[in-house]
Amino acid sequence: MKIVFATSNPHKLHELNEICAGSGIEFVLPNEGFAPVENGSTFEENSLIKAKEAYRVSKTYCLADDSGLCVDALNGAPGLYSARYAGTQDEKIEKLLVELKGVENRSAKFVCCVTLLDDKGEMIFQTVGECHGSIVKERKGVNGFGYDPIFKADNYDCTIAELSEEEKNKISHRGNALKKFLEFMHKNFNIT
Ligand code: IMP
Repeated sequence: MKIVFATSNPHKLHELNEICAGSGIEFVLPNEGFAPVENGSTFEENSLIKAKEAYRVSKTYCLADDSGLCVDALNGAPGLYSARYAGTQDEKIEKLLVELKGVENRSAKFVCCVTLLDDKGEMIFQTVGECHGSIVKERKGVNGFGYDPIFKADNYDCTIAELSEEEKNKISHRGNALKKFLEFMHKNFNIT
């Protein structure tokens, strides 16, 4: 079964196809013209906005994810604005490290909300996955993307960027949300 994945981030598409490998689902990019306006005030709202935009251009089953990093000492920032926190990814990481300079409480979580629309554009599933951990003081590792080099998951001694793809997917916010999505697909669509 082909499902459009509402993203323009090739890393996320790759992660999704890895997580769902063997399920019989293949995720593909939306048709041309996909340009969501992410002006929701929650991960749930933005995830639905992206799914609807993918449906508008593709008119088939669409899955969207909206995700971000929420840091306790920054009252949940960058949160919804994780992708827009600063210019390049390197600058976003630098900004976060500067904001947390001298801060004791470094606890944080990654959050991911996935939303599925059917071939009529109706929302048939939505769920949230989280990954709890903390922000380290220096970048480490080259795998993954985004804030992975400065995030250490609870019970791990290394950053997410030092984990293999497979290890990340087992514990990540996206992996956790996708696990619930696959259970839903298994029950309702004869997917393994
Ligand atoms: P979105 O594409 O609007 O969902 O933006 C999410 C942003 O949150 C990304 O651009 C990354 O900066 C960050 N992010 C989301 N998931 C991850 C992840 O798995 N690792 C690291 N950063 C992530």
